[in-house]
Amino acid sequence: MGRPIFASDTLDLIASRLTIIAMNAKHRFLVDAMLGRLCRWLRVLGWDAEYVEGSLSEELLARVESENRILLTRRQGVENNQLIFVESEVLEEQLRQLEVQFKVLSHASPFTRCIECNAGLERVDKPEIKDSVPFFTYQTQTEFYRCPECKKVFWPGSHHKTMLKKVEGLKETSPSP
Ligand SMILES: [Zn+2]
Repeated sequence: MGRPIFASDTLDLIASRLTIIAMNAKHRFLVDAMLGRLCRWLRVLGWDAEYVEGSLSEELLARVESENRILLTRRQGVENNQLIFVESEVLEEQLRQLEVQFKVLSHASPFTRCIECNAGLERVDKPEIKDSVPFFTYQTQTEFYRCPECKKVFWPGSHHKTMLKKVEGLKETSPSP
């Protein structure tokens, strides 16, 4: 039988490297349709990142203000003090920029947000999700989370571990502000 990927020693290691801070004290983002991958990554890192399609309309800018969000875009020529122009087309560079500006890597809270719909995940007891995950996963994993919106079940498996490794690598190569 395989060893759980997220055994407590691994978790301790990650916790010591990532500063986990309270979710309600964090930046909230609105992400332009041109930055779909970045949006998903922000969710993986636990950030509230709403994805928006269409143009940067006045309606959208009003939402940015009323929800106190930071608008991430690659569109030029829009003036707004809550708008951040994302300089690179490359995901890694985009994350580095946001690490410098908002500490999105250093202050991440992985496994707290649904990658699909951005809702906050809820920890669920193992028996509750028995019929929702593959048998092998059920047998080998101990921690499960469910999205209250789309009901998708998440667990800190090998895919997440790979992503966290990538985050650690990016953090080490990010310039200091
Ligand atoms: Zn969801």
